[in-house]
Amino acid sequence: MNQKLQKNTPESTLFKRIIGNISGGDNQTLLVCIGGLHGNEQAGYNALEYLASHLDERLFNGHFVAIGGNLQALKEKKRYLQTDLNRIWLNDLIDNIPHDSEISEYEELRQLIEVLRVIPHDTYKRRILIDLHTTSAPNGAFVVRTTTTDDQLAKLLEIPVILGLDKKLQGTAMTYMEQWDYETFAFEGGTIGKENSANNLISGVWRIMQATQMTTQPIPNLEHTLGKTIQNGVPNYLNCEYIHKIPENSTFKMLEGFGNFDSIEEGQLLAHQDGKEIRSPYTGYVLMPLYQDDGNDGFFIVK
Ligand SMILES: [Zn+2]
Repeated sequence: MNQKLQKNTPESTLFKRIIGNISGGDNQTLLVCIGGLHGNEQAGYNALEYLASHLDERLFNGHFVAIGGNLQALKEKKRYLQTDLNRIWLNDLIDNIPHDSEISEYEELRQLIEVLRVIPHDTYKRRILIDLHTTSAPNGAFVVRTTTTDDQLAKLLEIPVILGLDKKLQGTAMTYMEQWDYETFAFEGGTIGKENSANNLISGVWRIMQATQMTTQPIPNLEHTLGKTIQNGVPNYLNCEYIHKIPENSTFKMLEGFGNFDSIEEGQLLAHQDGKEIRSPYTGYVLMPLYQDDGNDGFFIVK
């Protein structure tokens, strides 16, 4: 059948829970990647589709599972429908996810946990979970480290590594999955809607597959920006010092023009909230300034 015709069928707009599942050889490494836990960040999902369709199964040594995140929100191109799917990975909730809830993310979470349970992770010596994201501000490629992240793997990505942010966010997939003995981290690939964001994610995950001997297949020559932020003088490691939480029902407006890793001074005007000025409590670098409608974190400060 004609490839192009096939691509234009309505099916191509459907998002899949299991995007790819590749295994072979005797390498005892399991790599699970999740893409699109935030539905407006399709780059993660697209990167996984690319990996699943371009990795040569005959050269593959290990087990790779690519999982789609918030499928309903991806379809509607929204961060989430009722609640942020990357803030509800909490033991109490997961042990008892309400049935027939009006919160569609609960059903998404149930299905994700089910898929993760079915993967025979106990049979692998090494388990790695990478959660793929993108951000709404420019220059957004970085790693959010957890306590189980392997620094050697993170280093391969040549992007800043943020420490201590995992502990400041409640209910993330990367933190929850640590108790399943996965080495985890979040990989922010760049800016929402920029083509090189998916390329960053593809190239980065592929580097990790090579380093863990999962494949010897050369990395496709895609235009990416890995390495650029560090080259511009941003430190390799930064600590998360502060999160500006937006109170319920507040109107938050970030000042225009901030990008990730822009230097900021203590007392600098950053945003307006309910008509009042929000100034930076620290000198450092701004991270993830909010330039989208949904989300409860206005900005982060790292240094
Ligand atoms: Zn995200």
